[in-house]
Amino acid sequence: MENEKDPSKNVPEQPQAGSLVRILLSMLEDTNDDELPCDEVHELVDHYAELDLRGEDVERIYPLIQLHLERCHDCHEEYEALLRAIRAVDGEIPAPQGKS
Ligand SMILES: [Zn+2]
Repeated sequence: MENEKDPSKNVPEQPQAGSLVRILLSMLEDTNDDELPCDEVHELVDHYAELDLRGEDVERIYPLIQLHLERCHDCHEEYEALLRAIRAVDGEIPAPQGKS
């Protein structure tokens, strides 16, 4: 049998000479794939929700959060709760009656 690449090991790209930062970054990114951990999303999601309600282009500003919210149920619920809370504070749209 040929010694094939272990699919569980992501072989990083060949580092360019003199870019140690790049190597370190790629190592960090390797652990997360291209996603943010829930912790970081939780820290940023309130800001994200505010921007979203303001009509900012959040998909461009925080693409990784958007991606995470699409994939992570917990964080998405957190985000929706924040949207409701911010709307309620703004008083523009009454908060919908619902579970509490
Ligand atoms: Zn999450």
